Amino acid sequence: MLVQKYKDMLSGKSVIRQLSEFATARGQEIGYENVFDYSLGNPSVPVPREFTDRMIHMLATKEPLELHGYSPSLGITSVREAIAENLEKRFGLPYRKEHIFMASGAAGALAHAFRLVTEPGDEILTFAPFFPEYHPYVDLTGAVLKVVPPNLENFQINFEAFEEMLTEKVKAVLINTPNNPSGVVYSTPTLQRLADILREKSREYGHIIYLISDEPYREIVFEGVDSPCVSYFYDNTIMCYSFSKSLSLPGERIGYVAVNPACEDAETMINMCGQISRGIGHNCPPSIIQLAVAQVLDKTADLSVYETNMNILYKELIDLGFTCVKPGGTFYIFPKALEEDAKVFSQKALKYDLVLVPGDSFGAPGYFRMAYCVDTEKVERSLEALRKFVKNEYATI
Ligand code: PLP
Repeated sequence: MLVQKYKDMLSGKSVIRQLSEFATARGQEIGYENVFDYSLGNPSVPVPREFTDRMIHMLATKEPLELHGYSPSLGITSVREAIAENLEKRFGLPYRKEHIFMASGAAGALAHAFRLVTEPGDEILTFAPFFPEYHPYVDLTGAVLKVVPPNLENFQINFEAFEEMLTEKVKAVLINTPNNPSGVVYSTPTLQRLADILREKSREYGHIIYLISDEPYREIVFEGVDSPCVSYFYDNTIMCYSFSKSLSLPGERIGYVAVNPACEDAETMINMCGQISRGIGHNCPPSIIQLAVAQVLDKTADLSVYETNMNILYKELIDLGFTCVKPGGTFYIFPKALEEDAKVFSQKALKYDLVLVPGDSFGAPGYFRMAYCVDTEKVERSLEALRKFVKNEYATI
């Protein structure tokens, strides 16, 4: 018999994917350049040249068995060392290879983090607006994802609601800063207060409440925005990092878990990740990609286009009368829709070939997400469609 829970998921397909499929189909009718597809968070700038050069050099000079053989289950030792050194240099925390586990992207890293610290039935709290894939990531472990309602004023943390929901059942709190979908970066006061509460409640409940920090957008931070290192605030932090967005490498599936060196049992946790990976099949990420990213740890793709796009869109949205928190990073913006039901709003936008994702699945109904990882030229052309959409559909507002 087929397993019902996966069968049930077939009818709950990701809205983002559905809209992206719509955009592709529409593109076949009118030319994809005429579809203003803001659905998918797929980087729009190429991987840095250095990465490609290193790959070519390795392929030309290294032994195929070394490049294409199985990686050790915790990751290639020299790669873990290089990442630890880089993290120590950047953040001043004494990371060693014993704190690093190589994983297949942030998704792979999170899959390990959840299994490290929760048993089926335990709760994980996250904050709206949040990345909807957290549901399948967590639900299929048997843990229960609960979502703290948003702080609509600035998309920092709604502490009142958080403290109410932080019961003894909660074993981990999951944050994502810079945030998908809001683009907001959690401030120092936010992280400080969060850490204080976690310390206090860990003491009160007699167990550690882990902080799982999902950081695929760590390098995409805009000018003048302070982006504090989450691990700096709380010892029991499990950082889940990905090279998908910083190096424009989502297809290569590479990232890592970095357990804070001050975390109790940090080394055991990393060794445990090796055991978890045996069961979930997210094991031994590609050797050649590990070796290549280790050589470009200080590099990123040219991420400046995202800030350019954000500024263009933010200005236009404000001029058109939208309420919108200005993003501090990522390639997402999350304005309030011009009518209560963002699904209806997004549906109407399709008439103008504008593909906008309603905020319901992000835990913030009434809002919508634009993923502006698109060419600036296209963003500029989309403004006319956006103006027409607002004028024709919401002229009285
Ligand atoms: N977490 C967030 C917030 C994301 O936006 C994404 C991808 O878009 C992921 C995790 C998964 O990242 P990866 O492709 O590295 O697995």
